[in-house]
Amino acid sequence: MSDTFKAILVSRDAEKKQSVEIVDLTEADLMEGDVTVAVEATTVNYKDGLAITGKAPVVRRWPLVPGIDFAGTVIESSHPDWRKGDKVILNGWGVGETHYGAFAARARVKGDWLVPLPDGMSPHDAMAVGTAGYTAMLAVMALERHGIVPDRGPVVVTGAAGGVGSVAISILSTLGYHVIASTGRNAESPYLIDLGAAEVISRDELSQPAKPLAKERWAGGVDSVGTHTLANVLSMTSYGGAIAACGLAGGMDLPTSAAPFILRGVSLLGIDSVMAPKAVRLEAWRRIGADLDLKKLSTLSRSIGFDGIIDAARDIVEGRIRGRVVVDL
Ligand code: NDP
Repeated sequence: MSDTFKAILVSRDAEKKQSVEIVDLTEADLMEGDVTVAVEATTVNYKDGLAITGKAPVVRRWPLVPGIDFAGTVIESSHPDWRKGDKVILNGWGVGETHYGAFAARARVKGDWLVPLPDGMSPHDAMAVGTAGYTAMLAVMALERHGIVPDRGPVVVTGAAGGVGSVAISILSTLGYHVIASTGRNAESPYLIDLGAAEVISRDELSQPAKPLAKERWAGGVDSVGTHTLANVLSMTSYGGAIAACGLAGGMDLPTSAAPFILRGVSLLGIDSVMAPKAVRLEAWRRIGADLDLKKLSTLSRSIGFDGIIDAARDIVEGRIRGRVVVDL
């Protein structure tokens, strides 16, 4: 009989009521793919929280093993790029949404979806970064492409104490930006300053309906909140600035006006990590290796075991997780 391994499975019944349980699977239960990976570390992202709680329709195949990212070692491959023993990372591509994902000790995926683990980084480190951190890097790269360099002025990071926010602050401060962190958890100010924030502001300053234009406060920003927060951030962006929109932790709507775009030449830069082409991923992970102070990873992450995933998923959608949560298998 094949060896079994633990996995989290989300299912729904005839009334579409969702449930989650820890089950035993074998490799024969995994979906199609040309590379099988022993998952050594994974993480709980906001999207994983949505998938496990059912708060938003992330899961689009039933039943499903959730988990949108992992790092581990190839144990079997018929893909030309990968051999047994290679260390790899996976982010997105519908894994944990339509394809069995990371919350299992084994994953079978397409080799085209994998990138190599950067030199000097362990699977644990890579998942302390995780999809949230890789997305933060994509946002920083987008700001740079738009010419938002440290000399242009401060940058704002919303949802600062969350995963995307924490890694964005770490990267931007290491690169020399003056980072203004916006948080709803004022008690996390010392943590945010430790990560490199130069100023901490209350999320309340950005949560009311936005004026078309407000006082110019920053040249750029990374937003993971959406809705009124993103509208306010845009209305306070200085002439020619740019905001990278990554998330919707506060809501999916965007109640803004044309004013920031047509009167101040502000740009809204969309960030998607899930379907980002491989070349972009490779560059993002290269930059993470180069520009993220790995020592900060221990400040911004904590470890849990496999059995803690479901509780962490519930906590993250309630905004109760600080930084990143790594699951060591
Ligand atoms: P986290 O839950 O770790 O962080 C989100 C943060 O947003 C919270 O910590 C909190 O920060 C703030 N927040 C939460 N709820 C609200 C609210 N109602 N109003 C205002 N602020 C709020 O999630 P992640 O960092 O992992 O993800 C952030 C967002 O980015 C999510 O929407 C996620 O889906 C999205 N995302 C998008 C990706 C892409 O490809 N575009 C990839 C990865 C993530 P604080 O307590 O400091 O205020």
